[in-house]
Order: sequence, then C-alpha cells, then structure tokens
Amino acid sequence: MPRQLFVTTALPYANGHFHIGHIMEYIQADIWVRFQRMQGHQVHFVGADDAHGAPIMIAAEKAGKTPQQFVADIAAGRKPYLDGFHISFDHWSSTDSPENHELAQSIYRELKAQGLITVRPIEQFFDPDKGMFLADRFIKGECPKCAAKDQYGDSCEVCGAVYAPTELKNPYSALSGATPVLKTSDHYFFKLSDPRCLSFLEQWTQDGKLQAGVAKKIKEWFTKDENGEGGLGDWDISRDAPYFGIEIPDAPGKYFYVWLDAPIGYLASLKGYFAAGGPKAKYGEARSFDEFMADPQVEQVHFIGKDITYFHTLFWPAMLQFSGRKLPNQVNVHGFMTVNNGEKMSKSRGTGLDPLKYLSLGMNPEWLRYYIAAKLNANVEDIDFNKDDFMARVNSDLVGKYINIASRAAGFIAKRFGGQLTSNLGDDGRALLQTLQDSRTAVADLYEARELGKVLREIMLLADRVNEYVDANKPWELAKQEGADARLQEVCSVCIEAFRLLSIYLKPVLPALVAQVEAFLQVAPMAFADADRLLGAHVIGEYKHLMQRVDVKLLDALFEPPAPPVVDLPKPGGEDIAPTITLDDFVKVDLRIARIVNAEHVEGSTKLLRLTLDVGEGRTRNVFSGIKEAYRPEDLIGKHTVVVANLAPRKMKFGVSEGMVLAASHADEKGTSGIYVLEPVAGAQPGMRIR
Ligand SMILES: [Zn+2]
Repeated sequence: MPRQLFVTTALPYANGHFHIGHIMEYIQADIWVRFQRMQGHQVHFVGADDAHGAPIMIAAEKAGKTPQQFVADIAAGRKPYLDGFHISFDHWSSTDSPENHELAQSIYRELKAQGLITVRPIEQFFDPDKGMFLADRFIKGECPKCAAKDQYGDSCEVCGAVYAPTELKNPYSALSGATPVLKTSDHYFFKLSDPRCLSFLEQWTQDGKLQAGVAKKIKEWFTKDENGEGGLGDWDISRDAPYFGIEIPDAPGKYFYVWLDAPIGYLASLKGYFAAGGPKAKYGEARSFDEFMADPQVEQVHFIGKDITYFHTLFWPAMLQFSGRKLPNQVNVHGFMTVNNGEKMSKSRGTGLDPLKYLSLGMNPEWLRYYIAAKLNANVEDIDFNKDDFMARVNSDLVGKYINIASRAAGFIAKRFGGQLTSNLGDDGRALLQTLQDSRTAVADLYEARELGKVLREIMLLADRVNEYVDANKPWELAKQEGADARLQEVCSVCIEAFRLLSIYLKPVLPALVAQVEAFLQVAPMAFADADRLLGAHVIGEYKHLMQRVDVKLLDALFEPPAPPVVDLPKPGGEDIAPTITLDDFVKVDLRIARIVNAEHVEGSTKLLRLTLDVGEGRTRNVFSGIKEAYRPEDLIGKHTVVVANLAPRKMKFGVSEGMVLAASHADEKGTSGIYVLEPVAGAQPGMRIR
C-alpha cells in the first residue's frame, strides 16, 4: 500500500521576499518529497503565505496598500524562487484564505467547547495617536538595565537583557513617537496549563517521534524551577482591533493572534488543494478533505526551522488534539544557514546569499540543491555556506565523479556502436553493478531518515567504485586497440548502466539534471524500483554535456556587495564641483582686493569692458573683463572687487590684460541667470590678500 503523506514547510511571513533560509528549508523538504514520490507514495506537498499580524498591517499602511493587496503583491513574487530551485509544491495558498478563516474559527469553537479558552484582563501599552495597542516590537525606549537608548520593548540589543515593555524607561511608540499609555483590555487565552494539555503534551513530545535534541529542549520548557516559576503558561491568542487577522467568534473587536491561525494555514492550504481537485487529478483521490484527514493512515509531516519549535511542538499539537483532529506524525526541525564562515546574514552588508541573484547570474540551481543536501543531516544543526567548499563539492564530486562517468563512455557508444548497449557486461562489470543495485535499500533508508549528507557520501563512494572500474579498463585505450571492440562496448555499457543507477539515487536532489539523463538514456521517468533491473541491449540517445563546473568568478559575483544606488547628486550652479585640490594648490593663486578706478567700453567688442584697477601696488593695472552684458561702466567705478593678481599677463586684440576679475555665473551662462562681479564686504582695502 502506498503511503499517503501530507507534507508542509513553515509558512513564510508575507512582509518580504524569500531569503536563503527559506530556500534551504524548501530544498530539504522537496528532496524528501521527491524521494517519497519515487518510492511510489502519494504526497500532497503544500505551502502558503503567512499573511496576518501587526507588522504586515503596518507595512501595508506605509506602502499605501490594503493588507490584502500588500500580501498579494508579495505572493506574486514567490514563483521565480520556487520554480527556479525546482521546488515541487502541489499547492500554495494564504492564511487569509476563506478556508483558513473557517478552519481557525471552528478549531477555536471546539477548544472553547472543551473548556480550554479563558478570558483575562491585560494591562498593555496603547498608542493614543494611532488608537491601537502596541506589540512589543513597536514600543521603544531606554533599556532598564543598561540605559541604552532606542531599545525594543522585549529585549536590549546592547546588553541582552530581557524585560517587559512596561519596564522600559521613557517609552515611546515606534509608530507615532507618542508616549504610550497603559490600558486594560480583555484577552483570550488557550489554557495550555490545563492538566489535560500538560499530560497530553508530556506524553506526545517524549514518545520518540521528535528528534532527540528537540524532545530534550521541550522537556526544559515543561520544568518549573524551585520557586514554581517557568513551566507552561496559558497562551494569549487574542489581539485588539485594529489588527489584520481573523475575527474571534462572539468577541467583537478581537482577532486571533497571527500565530494561532498560521499553522492552521497548513490544513487550509490542503483543503484549498482538495477544493481545486488536485488530489483527484493526481491520484484519483475520491474522498473529501475531511474524509482524507479522518483517515488514520494519512501521515502529517512538517518541516520547520528551530526558531519556531515552541509553536509547532506545544501549541499546534495541543490545538489539534483538543479540537479532535489528526496529530502531526513528524515535526522535522532544522538549524539555520550561515554564509561564508558563519557571518550573520545581512542584506545591508551584502554578505548574504541572495537566491534571486544566484539565479540571475545563471548559476545552476542544482549546484545549490546538491550542496545544501551534502551539508544537511537529521539533527538540528546550523550549516554554513562556504565558497571553497561549494566549489569542491560541485566540481570534484558532482561533476568530477558522477557526470564524468557518462562523458567518458557515451561518445564511444554513440560513435562506435550506433548508441547500442550490450547486455554482455563481463564478470567485473556485473559485480560492480550488483554492488550499486544492492545499495538501493541503504540509500532509500538514508533519504527516509533525512540523512541527506550521508546519502550523498554513500552515492559518491559508489561513484568512486565506478571510476576505479573505468581507470582499470581504460576505454580510451581499448578504443585504439585492434580487435578490442567487444570489450570496449562491454566496458562502456557497464559505465552507462552504472551512471543510470547513480542517477536514480541522485534524482530527488537533481530532478532537472536527471530529466536530461532520462532523455539521453531514452528511458521513462525513473523510480527507485527501476534500480532493480538494468537497461540490457538498449539503444541510448545522443549525449549532450550535462553540467558545467562552478567558475569562481560566479561565486565572487554572487557575494559582491551590491553597488551603491546611483543617485543624481544635484550639481551646484549647474556643474560638478572640480576635482579636489590641496591647500598648496590653492595658495598658488594670489587673490587680491582691487578698487575699480575706471571702467569703459572697448571699441569693437560686444563682450568686454576695460577696467583700470588699483591693487595697492602704487600703480594701476589694465584688465579686460567679459562683463559688458551685465554692467554699465559707470555702475562699477569706485567699487571694490577681487582680482587674480598673479595670472600671467595676456596679450589680447585690444591690449594686454594684467589679471582677471572674479565673477559668478551659472553653468548655462547663455541663460538668464547673469554674471555677478564679486564685491567684498565694506572695509576691505586694495591690495589685501584673500586666503
Ligand atoms: Zn541594555
């Protein structure tokens, strides 16, 4: 009987695009899902945008959109990432879907009927300008421990202290800047401290279905200290209007806290998939969503990051248990991804790995799938993306060990044997292929257990065996020997058979590449069971190069910090500031105050005035200046101005000019902005130096 699997990844918050952490989780889950499909199991793999909550409401307001429009715009950008990395979701929805509204409200009603909902007044900061209660992250103030300014309402980024928002000194609303006031409001709680919840969770979390490290961590959350502090408290599941979320039934102005309806979004997305007829079209599923979920054979499997373990191993199973629903069969928790030796991902510093940039550089998405798989295991461990390691794994292992097997054998089969493989494989060839076939169960068990790094190590060890066979039999030498044709066909057929078996094992990780392999081998899409037989006397197609090696230049480009945005700086006076000079450069120019002793027209010139200047030298200077359009001579006589006193004398048509008078103009001096001769503030004397 095929297994029936309902598989989800954590719902991404719809206030931004995917980052590499999302893509890592999707790749991990997608590999597991593709493996299950290759085993002949029925898989419904669904995702959704997590649409609700104050941050999205506020981001939408800033963007001048409704929250619905804001979320729809984010959702519209998901496809290039998912298609780009070959993530094979069957369905994608949103927690603002009608299915989720309906399911969240009915789960709440069922919990209430069980006596697990209680109402208590809560005193909370309220923004009087915005007319809303403030979530911790929207309250800022001075840290009560170290007095650092501008710290969030829940913890201090400077000293690490954790506190309640009411402990902040000089608190203010991060939304309006207003001083928040304390206000009381009724909040709805899910009574997680109820003995029924506690005994259920103590059993459910410790019965071996969760990863050992996760189960151990949860045990700490249950434990009260000697003062009776800690342990599981009731969970505040309500927020006051205005809030973008799902209304709580029979509680006007109250909405479900986003984390209540987010995991219900898994069920809602599957329900939407059933409504759209997906399972029927794919597997001939005749049952309704409700009937399907009532089948105890159906397995519910979640993939999540370690930061949301609390929600998925305590709140979520308790909500499901006490609303009479199916419980998760697996909650698979993974660690975080760091980039280049643990540097914390930061967009602003450009150190992150931007998934869209990766694709736009033309980097092969399956390099990343292979690399991430090689780093992952079934534990909650962080993994690091390292450039050198990435190059080594892709170039040496994936291309060097695996792809090369096909490229070394395919040419001879095509050129010498018209694409015809032989079923005569020799004892050494048969033994080698038997070893590969015998590994099927071990490989499958590792996939099942999400030990992806171990799977790839196992497969690469098999590839090593095949390469040893190639090196021992040297097809390139057989090709030159007289009368060795039969052996050449034998050896190359063994290589192609081995390459096919390795391709089956790698297919969950490299789906697009193996689709090309299937075309080259002229075989139907391969499943794991196909590893039990060989191709035999089969004709294969033309070999085309399957995968490039990683060029280090691509990796350098990937991590190059983004270029600073091109800003059109205003050009003062219509032109750029001239290149920087030193003070030494400046003092070379001897600027002096001059008195305009006389000014007169120059016969034959439409531009020039002839100025007679006193620069305090006991003589006067003759200077021609192009200011005729701007000044009448009589208006200048007697005024003081500035002259470049050490400019080399210049012989002009009308006489020698002994200096230059300074004047201001806009770059487009042909325009109307005019020319303005400089004039010092009253009191400056002829001959004074300007410095
Ligand atoms: Zn502090």
